Amino acid sequence: MPPPPYREDLVKAEILAMLGPRPLNRSQIAARLGLGAATVSEHTRRLIELGFLRELPPEVSGRGRPKVPLQVVPDAAYTLGLRVHPDHVLGVLARLDGGEVARFTRPFSPGHDPVGQLAAACEDVLRDPATGSRVLGIGLAVPGVIDPGTGTVRLSPRMGWTGLAVQPALAERLPVPVLIDNDTRASTTGELLYGTGRDHDDFLVLAIGDGVGMGIVLGRRVHRGPDGVAGEFGHVPTGPGGPPCVCGRRGCVDAYVADYGLAGQAVARGLVPAPPPLEELRRLAAADAPGVRDLLAEAGEVLGRAVAGVVNVLAVRALTVIGESHVLWPYLAPGFHRSVEAGVIAALPELEITLRPWDDSGHARGAASLVLAASLAS
Ligand SMILES: [Zn+2]
Repeated sequence: MPPPPYREDLVKAEILAMLGPRPLNRSQIAARLGLGAATVSEHTRRLIELGFLRELPPEVSGRGRPKVPLQVVPDAAYTLGLRVHPDHVLGVLARLDGGEVARFTRPFSPGHDPVGQLAAACEDVLRDPATGSRVLGIGLAVPGVIDPGTGTVRLSPRMGWTGLAVQPALAERLPVPVLIDNDTRASTTGELLYGTGRDHDDFLVLAIGDGVGMGIVLGRRVHRGPDGVAGEFGHVPTGPGGPPCVCGRRGCVDAYVADYGLAGQAVARGLVPAPPPLEELRRLAAADAPGVRDLLAEAGEVLGRAVAGVVNVLAVRALTVIGESHVLWPYLAPGFHRSVEAGVIAALPELEITLRPWDDSGHARGAASLVLAASLAS
């Protein structure tokens, strides 16, 4: 099947996500999503035709016309999200209400026929007699600079991929639509549908881990920019000099806050003899090993200053923190909060900061939500 053009019309996906926890009638949907009655009628009609929504018995109250509550049919269709790591792939099969049907992990080697390995992982799910025929599409979340419009991984140092057209090659081999995005932006789509987007139309998602990424939601849409690659927050320069960054420059946010940046500085300061893995760094911080909490507090300050700059420009009111390095957040947070408070101009309301519980399946669930966002576009 040829790759679909990258189109996103989130309204149907937003309706399904909003109805996930409880039934609502059309007027309530219109009010919550700020839409006109005709728009809601049109989208819900199509979702009922598809079998994704059903009407419940009308509720009669007072003198007006009875209201018909609508309910998601969660198992009417599934979306498959894959998070691609340098050594494994994690897959999550999700219901229409975002609930998880199944998850799996399989080994992955990015240097050896990656498309063939990904296709095999997807084909196993599609062949499952219990669930396969209900899979609407497949979403991939990949670390690096990804252009979701062409489906190309422009640059992923962790995978060792440059200019690799993963999505078109995979879409040719599979019978359902395939979507791809950067891992942080995939999770940002998930946040928009099932998380921060329930309360905010404009917000940031800050992903901390082996890099620092930012998802930007403005007016309930994920901002990707004309080249599809917006959000390279990790390479925001923070001042002259500074530690070396993977991009070849010095003093980027990544060089201070990404796990390799923190590990490199811990060695450079003589705190540890060799670069510590993330869990070891967390253990050293928890044990209050000399200098480690100071290192993390300073990293939090650098991160907070850079975030304050973005908040001042975009005037968003909420920021959600995700990613593997959330385990370091207790030590990054004091410096982070201090510099956000000092850096955000007084004319803006206080930034609402949420730390999202995180595990390895987070970006895979985000990738599954890409499918909902794009495959229901019409
Ligand atoms: Zn850099």
